Amino acid sequence: MQSVFRSDVESDWCPGCGDFGILSALIQALSELEIPPSKCAIFSGIGCSGKTPHFINAYGIHTLHGRPLPYAIGAKLANPSLTVVAISGDGDGYGIGAGHFVNAGRRNVDITYIVHNNGVYGLTKGQASPTLRKGAQPKSLKYPNINDMINPIAIALAAGYTFVARGFAYNVKHLKDIIKQAIIHKGLALVDILQPCPVFNTVDTKESYMERIKVLDDSFPTSDIKVAMEKALDQDTLWIGAFYKDESKDTFEERFQKILSEYPEVCPANIKMSDDDGRTTSDIREVLENFIC
Ligand code: SF4
Ligand code: MG
Repeated sequence: MQSVFRSDVESDWCPGCGDFGILSALIQALSELEIPPSKCAIFSGIGCSGKTPHFINAYGIHTLHGRPLPYAIGAKLANPSLTVVAISGDGDGYGIGAGHFVNAGRRNVDITYIVHNNGVYGLTKGQASPTLRKGAQPKSLKYPNINDMINPIAIALAAGYTFVARGFAYNVKHLKDIIKQAIIHKGLALVDILQPCPVFNTVDTKESYMERIKVLDDSFPTSDIKVAMEKALDQDTLWIGAFYKDESKDTFEERFQKILSEYPEVCPANIKMSDDDGRTTSDIREVLENFIC
């Protein structure tokens, strides 16, 4: 199989950035699942995370700010045989793209959403993002952050994501296993990844994360959404691993096939536009009459 990693593209991520661990985990996951580049499409938004697809042999687009999910959903619906991955940063996905993040949960399209979560807008020099803790003061903030942070895991659970997990950019093996589970999962999967930005988030360091991180082990009941929510809301510990999995819910693709079988006219391609001789069967006279005085 063609290599998943594109060694011909030079990286301009800063030394020590957590993005390298995420890229490595994603590449290993795609390789181990033996997903050929021709069957994979990766979409990113704007931010340091947006460069991730540049280094991967696959189809994909570096899209607009906050918009990788609509592109990814469109690609999956157009070609359901593709493995589709959307990639955001926390500012891109949970700030500018928050509406897409929440509403994607209502649809349960079978794609994977990976979010590089570092608490700042790294590409634009470290402004506070929606996941920066209240009171935190990374070096770009003149005063401590006065906003509360949002909790992406709790939001995803409430919004209807059917696979919800968190990883850590420096625990690549664990993260690779989580991403593999997310890709295999039938339905919409969120992998939120704690990703140190050593240049601009000078308070959430690799060391400070490691003091608070604990791994959800295999005995964790991932089918119980109440237990998952309790863990997500834990203020003291940053749990990593799979919080919740539910493959019983139908995907958007399945719902769409069902409605097509019941109401074939829903699909524009099924509307008869001409007779057997190719003459149009549309009659626009009634429409035109409304415009003629
Ligand atoms: Fe990584 Fe931060 Fe540098 Fe962006 S600014 S590449 S997130 S270290
Ligand atoms: Mg960020």
